[in-house]
Amino acid sequence: MELLKQLDRQLGLLQEKSLIRRRRNVESPCAPRVRVDGRDMLAFCSNDYLGLAAHPKIAAAMKEGVEKYGTGSGASHLISGHSRAHAELEERLADFVGPNLVEARALYFCTGYMANLAVLTGLAVGDKNSEIFSESLNHASLIDGGRLSRTSLKVYPHADVAALDAMLTASSASTKIVVTDSVFSMDGDLAPLPELLALCERHQAWLVVDDAHGFGTVGENGRGALEHFGLRSPYLVYVGTLGKAAGVGGAFVAAHATVIETLIQRARPYIFTTAAPPALAHALLASLDIIGGPEGRERRAHLNALVAQWQDGLRLQRWQRMPSSTAIQPVIIGGNEETMRAAAALYEQGLWVGGIRPPTVPAGTARLRATLSASHEARDVAQLIAALNELERS
Ligand SMILES: *Cc1c(COP(=O)(O)O)cnc(C)c1O
Repeated sequence: MELLKQLDRQLGLLQEKSLIRRRRNVESPCAPRVRVDGRDMLAFCSNDYLGLAAHPKIAAAMKEGVEKYGTGSGASHLISGHSRAHAELEERLADFVGPNLVEARALYFCTGYMANLAVLTGLAVGDKNSEIFSESLNHASLIDGGRLSRTSLKVYPHADVAALDAMLTASSASTKIVVTDSVFSMDGDLAPLPELLALCERHQAWLVVDDAHGFGTVGENGRGALEHFGLRSPYLVYVGTLGKAAGVGGAFVAAHATVIETLIQRARPYIFTTAAPPALAHALLASLDIIGGPEGRERRAHLNALVAQWQDGLRLQRWQRMPSSTAIQPVIIGGNEETMRAAAALYEQGLWVGGIRPPTVPAGTARLRATLSASHEARDVAQLIAALNELERS
């Protein structure tokens, strides 16, 4: 069949460029020590930053949620799938991130990918009166959301507030939307949110903040990047995801109640999909208790100590560490092939670290992306540091 041959040729090209991706089968709960395809590994690749993905209290809450609500929601939120558990979760989330917003309301989504599609398609009017200004290192879901919104889309250079200022000044759109990751997912650095917010307030633009990697991990109470920087504004539209630090799944948008009502009425990625199982929302109530309580604080303190240990211990010469103070700690190698060789060599030693290639990162900046978690011990991190220091020299 000619159509299959076409696909085979395209897959062959990926293979030649060392760009074929493969999945491994994990046979145990998400944790530093995992069983993968029959092997015991020490993993540094999940986004389970607080170690909550297999927490007994959250697992018990999920079981309780199944007892109360069954397994499926049965319909979209606007038909009959919106349960008491979803409503409670949204109230709790609005209270949790509320101090950083004005008249906050929250909306729960099945995934962060869909939340980002919803925010950008929901806020943009869809004609020539809207314009989206997107940070160059933004996550793929924000790029896709911009495309789906069918409005003018401009990309500003990484962390370049002056360039964005010039672009906003030149724009005649009546709805301006600036959108950025807060913690960049492949680099680990923080966006200059205070400067971006000042700019957005001056230009009367929305500031959409995707805090997928900040929610739960940064800010004194784990409320994320807005808390970390002490920001509060009606111009902020906050996206937090709940499958990373929160250890369960889904995501939420929190913003002024009028923004949320607009998304409910207008955002197709919210309207035309089955609501997530209510048991997930019920489990997330337990996760929020932990994140916002003393245990969450302890877990964040331990995570920060591991980050400091990493920064002190890594001695790279050819490869490059990024200036990241978060749980995301990339080592830039450059070439796809050398990166995948390094990942394979670590894997041989029982260390599982993701190799990241284009198009996830710009060409020529392939990297190992090590992620630290509060469930790692200091000796785990020491083992990876020693292996990397050794591997770079070999
Ligand atoms: C993971 C991620 C998302 C998507 O969230 P999911 O809940 O996994 O769909 C969105 N934005 C960023 C920056 C992410 O890292």
